[in-house]
Amino acid sequence: MKYQHLFGPVLSRRLGLSLGVDLVPYKVCSYDCVYCEAGSTNNLTNVRSEYVNTEDILTELDHYLPSQPKLDYITFSGAGEPTLHKDIAKIAKHIKEKYPQYPLALITNSSLVFDDQMREDMKDVDLLLPSLDAVSEEVFKKINRPYNALKASEIVEGLVKFKQSFKGQMHLEIFIIEGVNDTESELKLLKEACTRIQPDKIQINTLDRPGTEEWVVASSRENLERIKEYFKPLPAEIIAKIKVTKEAPAQIHTELEDIVNLIKRRPCTQDEIIRVMNLHINTVSKYLRFLIENSYILEKKEKRGIFYQIKNLEEDE
Ligand code: SF4
Repeated sequence: MKYQHLFGPVLSRRLGLSLGVDLVPYKVCSYDCVYCEAGSTNNLTNVRSEYVNTEDILTELDHYLPSQPKLDYITFSGAGEPTLHKDIAKIAKHIKEKYPQYPLALITNSSLVFDDQMREDMKDVDLLLPSLDAVSEEVFKKINRPYNALKASEIVEGLVKFKQSFKGQMHLEIFIIEGVNDTESELKLLKEACTRIQPDKIQINTLDRPGTEEWVVASSRENLERIKEYFKPLPAEIIAKIKVTKEAPAQIHTELEDIVNLIKRRPCTQDEIIRVMNLHINTVSKYLRFLIENSYILEKKEKRGIFYQIKNLEEDE
């Protein structure tokens, strides 16, 4: 069966070995974040709908999961915002009832958490990974470029309410953009919000692949450490690098090798790798991140976009 809505399993920095379930087509989202690695949002909306056929997703899950693959999580994620799918609760219930051995995670931008129905729909996941990059409306608009009705203040209130009744774990991600949301005033607001939300972990992240906007650059490790200290005594950590161990499924080693072989022949863009390898954007994105972090490849900006090439090509020049 050719899967349209499942991708991976991929090795994720936050989730280990994770099977992705993509609930919206590329790229339906309630935000158009300046740091998004998936490119610009072409359908900016906060309308919940059956963006992809629910029965098709259930059929794919029922085809893939009965073989009992080794997974740390099944994760609602993808190149867009999964909570925009109106049947997310039905799909979560299906997984929890038929495949209870797998913990279920949801990566969300938090945009709909102010909505009572949305919080009800998310209650069955085991691990919620919401984002909160800003608390002031000004910085929220600058970084996340949300659908116009969305307000940072309502999102914070929604996260506070949700955590009070949620039985699972919540790991809140903050994406740092130097000079924008790491100023004294914004960090103070973020810390106050996190003190009220009480997430089980605060995960500090920064850019490691090109974002949508060129002006967004990675924050230094030193700055991230400073922010982690600032959040004390709240449980903050910097998101670790992806590790591909020998025990990772053979499929991951093969796909990584195929990408390296492809790039060895000639430098490629992410889109070309996706097309040639027939892989999901999130899968390719994670592989590229791993290869860059481990200095196997580097990225080079050309007129036609960002190209990935083998590192020693550059060194030999
Ligand atoms: S980073 Fe996430 S929330 Fe932001 S635009 Fe991309 S998919 Fe949407």
